[in-house]
Amino acid sequence: MFAIAARELGYRISIYSPESDSPAGQIGDVEVTAPYEDLAKIREFARSVQVVTFEFENVPSITTEAAAEFAPVRPDGQVLHVTQHRLREKRFLQDHGFPVTPFRAVSSRGELELAARDLGLPAVVKTASFGYDGKGQTKVRSEAELGIALEALKGAEGIYEAFVDFEKEVSVVAARTSAGQIAAFPVFENSHANHILDVTFAPARIPPRLAQEAAELASGILEALDVVGLLTVEMFVTRDGRLLVNELAPRTHNSGHLTIDACVTSQFEQQVRAVCGLPLGSIEQRSPAAMANLLGHLWLGGEPNWPAALEDPSVKLHLYGKREARIGRKMGHLTATGSTTDEAVRRVVRARERLGIR
Ligand code: AMP
Repeated sequence: MFAIAARELGYRISIYSPESDSPAGQIGDVEVTAPYEDLAKIREFARSVQVVTFEFENVPSITTEAAAEFAPVRPDGQVLHVTQHRLREKRFLQDHGFPVTPFRAVSSRGELELAARDLGLPAVVKTASFGYDGKGQTKVRSEAELGIALEALKGAEGIYEAFVDFEKEVSVVAARTSAGQIAAFPVFENSHANHILDVTFAPARIPPRLAQEAAELASGILEALDVVGLLTVEMFVTRDGRLLVNELAPRTHNSGHLTIDACVTSQFEQQVRAVCGLPLGSIEQRSPAAMANLLGHLWLGGEPNWPAALEDPSVKLHLYGKREARIGRKMGHLTATGSTTDEAVRRVVRARERLGIR
């Protein structure tokens, strides 16, 4: 989707991916297939382009450092360094005065017990690195379950977070240029199933004051991290109406996909503009919209019934061109617009139901 937006603006696109025939590789002019650790290949790649960006934050820092010898990497390696490690990220946010879930670093039974005493139960224990979509997470309900969390860490560094009994989850996708211009998209409201994003709609059903606060919070984080490019801030809205930052992603985000069909500028065009030194586009939302993810299980009975989903002319289908449908894998999404968010949500959920698979 980034490559499509870049192409529309007249750019040529080179893709570097450990996998061949990647969704972006199908759109790009050049596709290089090599591991991130192949620094000679990375240097050769960076020499051939004018700017480097990414859509996956777990790229090793040695890789971005090697690329940065030949082309600007946006967001830069420092932003990646902070955001690819949950503890560094939470400490950074806390040190800069941003509200976060209470947390502790844990890697032993003793530290887990201490954290449970200080922060209470229930809690979520997450691995510090390589976690997303609930991967590497264990919910702990009682002291007795601390052992399960310790085992799940498999010796890796972990983070103990007090369980937030949130009212809802929202996210803000914001862009910042090297000149310091910032634009935040309207607040997205997200619902998850099995820790994976299921449905997003915008505008979020929150008071305007809170939406303003969320946008300011996101802008403040982009400035503090000196982001050039895009950053997504996932937040919890607590039952007493406060915002807590859950996680940062230094890239476009699944919750921002509805911008393609609902906003003057999509999140992908915004990323292109931000990393290529262009002024940012309008984030104005043209109509209420909702997005529903299409995960791999929908293919279990063969090809889903696309014509049925598209019977409603307000529904748009986006498929990513991934060859293999695995359970839980994000294969595409549907977007619907409507005169209200409720209507958009209803339309998109019904369209997905018409695919014929539960
Ligand atoms: P994450 O990978 O941190 O984004 O977590 C995935 C999902 O797990 C979140 O979107 C929440 O629904 C849930 N979750 C994560 N951390 C917490 C927490 N501290 N309290 C309650 N729910 C959480």
